[in-house]
Amino acid sequence: MDCLFCKIVSGEIPARKVFEDEVAIAFHDIHPQAPVHLLILPRKHVASLAQLASTEEDRNLLGHLLDAVKRIADEQHLGHGYRTVINTGADGGQTVDHLHLHLLGGRAMGWPPG
Ligand code: 5GP
Ligand code: ZN
Repeated sequence: MDCLFCKIVSGEIPARKVFEDEVAIAFHDIHPQAPVHLLILPRKHVASLAQLASTEEDRNLLGHLLDAVKRIADEQHLGHGYRTVINTGADGGQTVDHLHLHLLGGRAMGWPPG
């Protein structure tokens, strides 16, 4: 499968990893939009949030990803707050079709997002 993030998961393409366990990995975004800009994603290929099923397995996957966000935010000293974003599909601004969460921090965020 020709998926950029699957290639990062397998190590075929390098990335600055900050976290990994049996389910998920996290690494620095190549074009950071904040002092801390990390991507958290499942090792298994899921194209987007819209492709997840309402099964126990996929619900557990989502819970695992959010728990990883919280733990990584602690490690990154983001006690002042942070933003978590999941872009989904074309109108959502998704450009890489492998489910991922953005974790942005280190500056105050504006609202609404663009
Ligand atoms: P999306 O737009 O799909 O929500 O987010 C994709 C993110 O992946 C973008 O923020 C983009 O900067 C990042 N990205 C794209 N290619 C690479 C890459 O090769 N390495 C890393 N670390 N990040 C990438
Ligand atoms: Zn993939």
